[in-house]
Amino acid sequence: MTEHAVVIAGGGPTGMMLAAELALAKVDVAIVERRPDSVLVESRALGFHSRTIEVLDQRGIADRFLAEGKTAQTAVIGMTVLDISDFPTRHPYGLGLPQNHIERILAGWVAELPVRIHYGCEVTGFTQDDTGVDVELSDGRSLRAKYLAGCDGGRSVIRKGAGIDFPGWDATRSNLIAEVEVTEDVPRGIRNDATGVHALSRSEDGRTVRVVTTEQQLGPNSEPTLRDLSLALKTVYGTDFGIHSPVWISRFTDMTRQAASYRAGRVLLAGDSAHVHYPAGGQGIGLGMQDAANLGWKLAEVVNGTAPESLLDTFQNERHPVAAGLLRHTMAQTALQRQDERMKAVVEVVSVLAKMDEPRKYLGGMIHGLDIHYDLGEGHPLLGRRMPDLDLGNADGPLRVFELLHGARPVLLNLGEPGSFDIAPWAERVQLVDADYVGTWDLPVIGVVTAPAAVLIRPDGYVAWVGDGTDTGLRDAMTTWFGPPTAT
Ligand SMILES: Cc1cc2nc3c(=O)[nH]c(=O)nc-3n(C[C@H](O)[C@H](O)[C@H](O)COP(=O)(O)OP(=O)(O)OC[C@H]3O[C@@H](n4cnc5c(N)ncnc54)[C@H](O)[C@@H]3O)c2cc1C
Repeated sequence: MTEHAVVIAGGGPTGMMLAAELALAKVDVAIVERRPDSVLVESRALGFHSRTIEVLDQRGIADRFLAEGKTAQTAVIGMTVLDISDFPTRHPYGLGLPQNHIERILAGWVAELPVRIHYGCEVTGFTQDDTGVDVELSDGRSLRAKYLAGCDGGRSVIRKGAGIDFPGWDATRSNLIAEVEVTEDVPRGIRNDATGVHALSRSEDGRTVRVVTTEQQLGPNSEPTLRDLSLALKTVYGTDFGIHSPVWISRFTDMTRQAASYRAGRVLLAGDSAHVHYPAGGQGIGLGMQDAANLGWKLAEVVNGTAPESLLDTFQNERHPVAAGLLRHTMAQTALQRQDERMKAVVEVVSVLAKMDEPRKYLGGMIHGLDIHYDLGEGHPLLGRRMPDLDLGNADGPLRVFELLHGARPVLLNLGEPGSFDIAPWAERVQLVDADYVGTWDLPVIGVVTAPAAVLIRPDGYVAWVGDGTDTGLRDAMTTWFGPPTAT
């Protein structure tokens, strides 16, 4: 039986991000992916928002995505675009890039790292014991791992196999989504009516058309056909535009559910396997990739034996509330798409509010994921929030904060007297960087905060400790996040 420290079921955006994070932390990791290769035929998502670009920037790979996509103001509520171009981030925008390209670029990054990928087979089941998990594959093989991560999407076999509840709300609305050829011209733009949203757009190759339409009644839980799509289009547009030769057709719904627990013993869930929602707001990929960025370094520390298993509980404590809030928001967004006369009136009211500065900042910060605040206790406003990508300077010249995070290792950033910290017992685990920063500390949504004398930054870019000129609380924070000190 082949052994790995971690096996990941599913090589979508979440699984690939998690694998990369583990590989950067020198963990022996393997992905099992049902598809024959990394090519995604059904391109569902059309991009992601600011914080996800920042997370990729923290690993030095944001430029690969930015070079192929189009930056734009991607946060929308009702019919109002929430412009965040004045937000204090290096990326005050979202990125338009189809999911098949996002996955291709991620797969290219993963290929540069020591990650084993088993394409063309499924995880069919598993059993866990005190020391690990036996993972059964559809080709008859099995793998042994210390931990199994379920990144296998909304219908997760791992979630079901672990017996984890998936409470939430049943579907009330379904959409057909497809890529087809047509014999007639198609109208441009989005149409909203009492059922929901409908849109047709030419694909990049100019040959096919991408169609999204809301069905008049909730569709069955089976694969849709070209005839279903034809009927749905005729109802909305009076014609089916002569659709033929489908590349793919799929159905999605507004079913909204969240795993009651993100962990059952040695089994963890991240991404769509832990939460599903209607794609209104376009936040699914970012949510999953940020789950992975939160889990990766923690799981690596546990697997590598530097931190106790209890560190894994913080994954659920931090990420469950973020997804719960996002799920509520997508339900509101979904309701706003259903434009009968009464909902149109609601959209008008929401639009007036969303144009005001405070609501714009609040909603823009939320949709872009720039407002995330993990509850790490009382203290400086930076505690538990994302570290800004400041332009620093030190004896070696200029440097950016995010450059310090490329290797996914924690950083103690000392902005006070050089040499004033001694972290010898953690020297193997935490980088100590003396640097200067001249400028304000401006955070999205909450504004300017008092300049700290030092900050302890976790590998996922969130601040774990803020210094006031002393080292009070630093040892505790280092022990909590990066394990007990080693004898020096
Ligand atoms: C129409 C639509 C539009 C969307 N638009 C956006 C958008 O604009 N922005 C955005 O951020 N999100 C959007 N989303 C959501 C986004 O597509 C998902 O949230 C995202 O793909 C989740 O990534 P994941 O890796 O967690 O899961 P998935 O992408 O579902 O990946 C799971 C992977 O696991 C594999 N797998 C499944 N079961 C097994 C098994 N048993 N063994 C091995 N492999 C397995 C699958 O083949 C797949 O590759 C949209 C979704 C839809 C349906």
